[in-house]
Amino acid sequence: MRILLLGAPGAGKGTQAKELAKKLRLPHISTGDLLRQNVASGTPLGLQAKDFMNKGALVPDELVNKMLTERFKAADVAPGFILDGYPRNLNQAKSLDDILKKNSMSIDLVVYLEASETIIVQRICGRLVCSKCGANFHKTNMPPKTEMTCDHCGGSLYQRSDDKEETIKQRLTVYKNEVSSLIDYYSRSNKLERIPADDDAPVVLESIIRLVSRNNDPTKV
Ligand code: AMP
Repeated sequence: MRILLLGAPGAGKGTQAKELAKKLRLPHISTGDLLRQNVASGTPLGLQAKDFMNKGALVPDELVNKMLTERFKAADVAPGFILDGYPRNLNQAKSLDDILKKNSMSIDLVVYLEASETIIVQRICGRLVCSKCGANFHKTNMPPKTEMTCDHCGGSLYQRSDDKEETIKQRLTVYKNEVSSLIDYYSRSNKLERIPADDDAPVVLESIIRLVSRNNDPTKV
């Protein structure tokens, strides 16, 4: 299956995409993760993207589209994928269709995670990320067993530089400006499904899995 996760920063796209990818044994493609890897290793793309990311702005479409075109050349996407953080606007949605068409693919399902603003801000402010394996933790909701250390791989945890209050506000504004055009776009093709996303991660994951099974086999409830 080719699944897209849409939602505000902090709606849980990354957390859910990682778990869903494990469950369905499909690659998880996160444009945020790919960009952060480029920034960390100081590639030309990373150098161009860094300032936009630190300000909470979108990285220009042409850079992100090119990065994604390259990613889709890899063989692991053939059986399907879970895409998170892309598209962020209508132009990217259309580019995604073009990229997929060139590879004889299309999106099967768009999962729109709907979380309230209070929950979003609370999640982002407490988010901790593993510098080694990318696992997400939360200072109070999901603290690591050992302070600032990843339970899975022992890597050190850090707070993303764009998870600060001022930048969060900017990221939410950018999101609100763009999301309705994406919702319209995917509703028109009957691919959009809404999932309430205020609950804890395992509860939301259950809802997504039910939705995915129903889409694979419409006779299932
Ligand atoms: P995320 O990890 O999805 O919250 O993304 C973190 C930051 O990376 C965003 O605030 C943007 O600056 C940048 N970014 C991630 N995905 C995209 C995208 N599809 N288009 C433009 N910028 C992106």
